[in-house]
Amino acid sequence: MSDDTNNKPTLTRKPLTLSRSLESGEVKQTFSHGRTNKVVVEVKRKKLVGKPGYAPEPEVAAPAPPPPPPPPPPVAAAPAPRPAPNDMLSRQERQAKLLREAEEARLAMLEESRRREDEARARAAEEEKRRAEENRKAEEAPAAPTPEPVVEQEPEPAVSNDDGAAPAPRRFTPVESPKRPAAAPAPTEREREEAKKAPHRPTRDRTADRRQSGKLTVTRALDDDEGARARSLAALKRAREKEKRLHGGGNRQQQPKQSRDVVVPETITVQELANRMAEKGSDLVKALFKMGMPVTINETIDQDTAELLVEEFGHNITRVSDADVDIVHDEDVDAPETQKPRPPVVTVMGHVDHGKTSLLDALRGANVVSGEAGGITQHIGAYQVKAKDGSVITFLDTPGHEAFTQMRRRGASVTDIVILVVAADDGLMPQTIEAIKHSKEAGVPMIVAINKVDKEGANPQKVRERLLEHEVIVEQMGGDVQDVEVSALKKTGLDTLLEKLALQAEVMELKANPDRAAEAIVVEAQLDKGRGAVATVLVKRGTLKRGDIFVVGSESGKVRALINDKGQQVTEAGPATPVEVLGLTGVPSAGDVLTVVENEARAREVALYRKEQSTKVRTAQVTPNLENLFDNLSATRAKEYPVVIKGDVQGSVEAIVTALNNISTDDIKVRVLLAGVGGITESDMLLAAASNAPLIGFNVRPNTKAAALAKRDRVRLKYFDVIYHLTADIAKEMAGELGPEIIETVVGRAEVKDVFKSGKRDKAAGLLVTEGVIKKGLHARLTRDDVIVSKTTIASLRRFKDNIDEVRAGLECGVVLADTNDVMAGDMLEVFEIEERERTL
Ligand code: GDP
Ligand code: MG
Repeated sequence: MSDDTNNKPTLTRKPLTLSRSLESGEVKQTFSHGRTNKVVVEVKRKKLVGKPGYAPEPEVAAPAPPPPPPPPPPVAAAPAPRPAPNDMLSRQERQAKLLREAEEARLAMLEESRRREDEARARAAEEEKRRAEENRKAEEAPAAPTPEPVVEQEPEPAVSNDDGAAPAPRRFTPVESPKRPAAAPAPTEREREEAKKAPHRPTRDRTADRRQSGKLTVTRALDDDEGARARSLAALKRAREKEKRLHGGGNRQQQPKQSRDVVVPETITVQELANRMAEKGSDLVKALFKMGMPVTINETIDQDTAELLVEEFGHNITRVSDADVDIVHDEDVDAPETQKPRPPVVTVMGHVDHGKTSLLDALRGANVVSGEAGGITQHIGAYQVKAKDGSVITFLDTPGHEAFTQMRRRGASVTDIVILVVAADDGLMPQTIEAIKHSKEAGVPMIVAINKVDKEGANPQKVRERLLEHEVIVEQMGGDVQDVEVSALKKTGLDTLLEKLALQAEVMELKANPDRAAEAIVVEAQLDKGRGAVATVLVKRGTLKRGDIFVVGSESGKVRALINDKGQQVTEAGPATPVEVLGLTGVPSAGDVLTVVENEARAREVALYRKEQSTKVRTAQVTPNLENLFDNLSATRAKEYPVVIKGDVQGSVEAIVTALNNISTDDIKVRVLLAGVGGITESDMLLAAASNAPLIGFNVRPNTKAAALAKRDRVRLKYFDVIYHLTADIAKEMAGELGPEIIETVVGRAEVKDVFKSGKRDKAAGLLVTEGVIKKGLHARLTRDDVIVSKTTIASLRRFKDNIDEVRAGLECGVVLADTNDVMAGDMLEVFEIEERERTL
């Protein structure tokens, strides 16, 4: 029966012989003798072999191995009787194995596809025919069987490693053993092929055997003499080893190739493309090289090149444009009916020392709900307060226009309302005016908090009047800007302030859809020793939940924990709620948008894309040769070089900030912590000291208290009067290439008491030395109201008409300053020595 039906029979028979439980992965074998055996089947996907796979049953059925052509007895039958040499058990085992393998193969085949089956069958049939022919020929010729037998025999009994392909042929041969001799030549070839395949797939062998069971294997083996068998085993092993060496054990490669849909953005690195194709990066590089493109694995190729590669490797390309990859928030608008009222987000701005921090602290303490006035510890960079009427207000705890503008510059406008703090005793100051400018530019409504009304000399009315000059017309002056008199110190007026905030918010009808995937803005982020990357975010819309998968800037993550402003773990955070997020892959930047996405793959994709984009932007600015270098660096975040800047006028401060941003590179970026106008104050020093940042004074000097702080905290003070020198110095320092450091040591100070003519052109200054000593020839700096007027040297020094070398504190003297006559009574003169020192950065 086997003969005619080679392939087909198999199929029909299967059901009879094997009952397989898919779930269990077990195969029940039924043997001819009525015995049964259960075998655990490990289903492996196999490469399709040319031969039909369905041989499994044949044996069981005992009767006819399907494929077996003319040859002898069905495999199953054959084994049973012949086994003579081998004991039954071994034979059974073998059979079991064969069955198992056959089953595996069958399953694999089924999984593959029907069409493949047909193909395979056809091929198998052909091969059989060929074999038969060969055998016939061989018959005629004397036998050179060795090679064949070896391979054939061994596989089945001894080794299960053989590939299905290989065995099959062998089987056939054996069956026709008589003819085999002739096969010698042909078989050899085949054997080789088989040998190759064999190593790969043990299972296969069996399968193959099974399929061709008719042809017989075991039988064949038995027929051979022992010596031959032994030899064949050794030979087989050697052959396999050789194969392995040749193929590097990579049988997989011979498996049918899986054709994948490869998503390719406009540009992609070779490595990433390889990942997406599930190919080896080095193979892609090779292919590119052949295409005349010598690139490295980290290099970026364009979509067209990627397409060539994808096709070359037999996959399908799915082109996506940049926009497809990145998340575009603007396009995703919530329908009005989905939006619900949300708390306002408030930022406090104002001039330094006018009480921003104090006010934020006082408001935090004013949280009527918590009832622990003043007792709430600050956990994150934003907090919420519940007003008496129950309305909730969110405060961003990063006072100052710097934070505000920085966020805005990044396109992240989180602030709904600005509280402009003006000290009633100090009035409008440069930063007050700047804050007004910023909030107007941003179109954010303002509420003026006139602070320190408890103070003597406080003049709230004057503040209101001065505000008119800047087109801020408060209610009391007939305008629509709300104003409140408060005292952060005495905690007065706070409730009124909260009420007015709530009122303003009501007018604005702030709304957001809470029932959607969350979108939030990073307010601040840092790397926490114990908790890894942590970001404080403010939910803009949607509800952020624990377990959410998100992308934030060019980082991604999964919300591991959410911690609210009171340090409590929460499971979710709705619109306008500040919350700390744990579970990020890296530290994002303030202003980055956190977006919840559907799955991790998407999150990674977007993060990767953004990383690539920022790399591209950065590399665009360097020479092409450096591209790779920077590609590699892109993985690591740019270092930050923090600075605190104080300057004499707004214009120069702005120019400095711009200039410093321009010298930022991929490796290191200037981070302006503060850029303000005016003399250097204590709080500037504290900020610089706290951030270990140099304090850059541009035509300004510290006041006495600040100078003392600088000494105590060892703040690096850098004074400049030419922006170019400033940027050059900072650039050098940033690059770590700074040569010896110029150290200024102030040796004396003096006050200009009087000014008189000296000679025809020069002016001489009458000084009272207040500190240290003044020496002729030393460098000197003349300041007026803490602003540097000139930098010069002591050209001449006199005391009572005598030219002298130095004058000590407490004494008066007259000096002529080199190259300047701009000196007035009341100016201060600072005399210093300059010393060059090895820089320790
Ligand atoms: P910021 O630089 O704007 O953050 O100002 P701070 O909050 O640091 O306050 C500067 C100084 O003003 C501190 O010494 C505060 O104690 C003081 N201060 C703040 N608010 C008030 C107030 O309402 N009344 C008085 N008398 N002093 C205040
Ligand atoms: Mg402050």
